[in-house]
Amino acid sequence: MGKLQLIIALLVAAFSLFSYFGSSTVNPITGEKQYIGMTPKEEIAMGLQSAPQMAAQMGGITNDPRARQLVAAVGAKVVAQSVAAKSGYPFKFHVLADPRTVNAFALPGGQIFITMALLSRLETEGQLAGVLGHEVGHVIARHSAERIAKDNLTQGLTGAFAMGSGSMSATQIAQAVAQFQMMSYGRDDELESDRLGLQLMAEAGYDPRALIRVMQILERAGGGSRVPEWQSSHPIPANRIAQINQTIAKAFPNGLPPGLTP
Ligand SMILES: [Zn+2]
Repeated sequence: MGKLQLIIALLVAAFSLFSYFGSSTVNPITGEKQYIGMTPKEEIAMGLQSAPQMAAQMGGITNDPRARQLVAAVGAKVVAQSVAAKSGYPFKFHVLADPRTVNAFALPGGQIFITMALLSRLETEGQLAGVLGHEVGHVIARHSAERIAKDNLTQGLTGAFAMGSGSMSATQIAQAVAQFQMMSYGRDDELESDRLGLQLMAEAGYDPRALIRVMQILERAGGGSRVPEWQSSHPIPANRIAQINQTIAKAFPNGLPPGLTP
């Protein structure tokens, strides 16, 4: 292997590491230190640009005006009366017509989707607030932007490694390791979004215990052939229920206030 090749590989690796670790920012809402290359404006633009394509790919927006109104109203309530309003992200809540895939997800910058399959399984407004709160949590914690920065770092380092070692199998190992890391980050992201979702629901006047029932509904709906956001990368609902109970006990040591919407 040539010396020049090794030097270039090292430069590529160094550049990837510098751009990643040079992009450190503190999230104003979660207080967490994050590595993110995009600005919130870029996140918003990316979400707005990909929302129509995403909706089309997932079978389109529902024609049911009541479903659309309900989701828009509860979504607006979760955002308006919580820390999410201070985030500056322009939240928009879309209802997908899909009657089979039980799912909800968020694009960066505030575009949030829920399928009719999930919506029709929910029993109360509080449960809907729980689902939407979780997705708003992904947006304000900037999980997509964080993942994009991680992907860029992984690609840079994997490229450098392949260049330096000249071995395909070593590259494959590096990729597998990176994949595994992303999966575990994904799980942390889900638990963080559950915690944020609980906070947002409670601030909007919804009973946070409604999210426990959502987990039970998801558990029952599980086992489908597709792998939607709420069932794939997520920790199993039983684990999430344990954390939800802990979070509620910690946030309300003297019990929940009266008059919350179930
Ligand atoms: Zn999630």
